[in-house]
Amino acid sequence: LTVSPQPSSALDAALIEIERSLGPSQVATDDEIRQRYGHDESEAVPHAPDAVVFPATARDVVEVMRVATRRLIPVTPRGGGTGRVGGSVPVAGGIVLSLERMQRTKAIERNDSIAVVEPGVVTGELHRQVEAEGLFYPPDPNSAATCQIGGNIAENAGGPRAFRYGVTRDYVLGLQVVTAEGSLLKLGKRTFKGVTGYDLTSLIVGSEGTLAVVTEATLKLIPKPEAVATLLAFLPDVRSIERATIAASTGGVVPRCVELLDREALTIARENALTPLDDGRAHAMLLIELDGDAAALARQVERCGNALTQAGALKVVSASDPVERERLWETRREMSRALRARARHKLAEDVVVPLSRIADLIDACQTIAQACGLRAAAHGHAGDGNLHVNFLWDRDDQTAQAQRAVRKLFEAVIAMGGTLSGEHGIGILKAPYLGLEQSDELIAVQRRIKRLFDPYAILNPGKIFG
Ligand SMILES: Cc1cc2nc3c(=O)[nH]c(=O)nc-3n(C[C@H](O)[C@H](O)[C@H](O)COP(=O)(O)OP(=O)(O)OC[C@H]3O[C@@H](n4cnc5c(N)ncnc54)[C@H](O)[C@@H]3O)c2cc1C
Repeated sequence: LTVSPQPSSALDAALIEIERSLGPSQVATDDEIRQRYGHDESEAVPHAPDAVVFPATARDVVEVMRVATRRLIPVTPRGGGTGRVGGSVPVAGGIVLSLERMQRTKAIERNDSIAVVEPGVVTGELHRQVEAEGLFYPPDPNSAATCQIGGNIAENAGGPRAFRYGVTRDYVLGLQVVTAEGSLLKLGKRTFKGVTGYDLTSLIVGSEGTLAVVTEATLKLIPKPEAVATLLAFLPDVRSIERATIAASTGGVVPRCVELLDREALTIARENALTPLDDGRAHAMLLIELDGDAAALARQVERCGNALTQAGALKVVSASDPVERERLWETRREMSRALRARARHKLAEDVVVPLSRIADLIDACQTIAQACGLRAAAHGHAGDGNLHVNFLWDRDDQTAQAQRAVRKLFEAVIAMGGTLSGEHGIGILKAPYLGLEQSDELIAVQRRIKRLFDPYAILNPGKIFG
């Protein structure tokens, strides 16, 4: 399913055609820009494209895709470039199609509780816009300040609030997309219910830019919760995590977030002075967030705190003032940066196991890391069983051991009834491991679907299936 590199004459001719219809300001071939668009936020090896194209409208995308299919030029869609699996790295060269200039919020319709947006809208900006109208778009990847709705849709992004509110797919009602051959399709609906035809909207969500380019999305909104409270619970050991997570959902109230730092992550946070309210006896930390009606929230916080203490928490602190809440979030938010600073090399995996296996997963990470001569630290969305497992090492000659550790981790996760990725996708980095989770028959069916949307394999080649 990969295209062979095209002779530069085909590429030059394609770029001339694209420039003629879109205008020269929408095509860049200079070295600095090509390098800038050749990587994402993963460990994938950067690969500069031959050109970066910046469409301003869906019609521009149609034009680019028609030319690219006719001349067999690879096209890699790109949002904010915050991906963790190399999804927007143009491994086959050709064109990077950056959707960043399609950044209009076309409508926020209060009565219908929907937003209609272009793919380049930055997620955090959408949060601000809808919240100003008293509405709420729950998906909240921690990269919200720079990732874009198109990238979130392509990866079916989650985030801390997924525990209560679900992931991006749960909020995408309809899409406008452009296929590899340049057909402009309207998928789905703008109503909350609707079952007409196959659910191609859901198929496109999470397809990692391999089936079509998203050019517009109709998103479901819900009322903005009136008040929010955050709790930190310091736990004696990782075995308490399952008990504490269940306890946090006491009295029928489901927290919107249940985030975790395991023992190693907590140690690294301490080394970086990131635990202002620490309890030195703790070997794990949970961050829990509740939201809802302001009058009821104070009672729920008290009940949740008591339940956490009964479940074995050594110390519980809470805050409802926005500044104080932000202070409680600091340790969790700064974790990625602290881990990166801790070792010269870091491989972060985004695996999921059933809640009852979280402690087993954390134990397995330590056993695997020790066997491979590495260090491991886990943090992430404990409520969903979705942990970001980080293998850390300093010497360049340890890379092969790290790869061995990743394979062992994936094998352990599958044996526990889990899955390779909770929210980051497969991209390039996990493609070699797809067969650990999915049968050959299932992969073959997906390849056939891919061929239907993209017969010449020009759209984001090399991703998911390798
Ligand atoms: C600090 C940090 C924290 C993060 N936290 C989270 C988190 O909490 N939850 C989470 O889910 N992820 C998280 N991520 C990962 C990342 O932010 C998400 O995967 C995000 O959805 C990627 O969006 P993007 O706009 O940056 O897309 P990119 O990285 O540019 O692209 C990602 C994929 O989407 C495709 N794509 C982009 N735009 C389109 C389009 N318009 N049409 C079709 N395909 C397209 C690309 O081809 C690529 O395959 C985090 C990343 C960082 C760096």
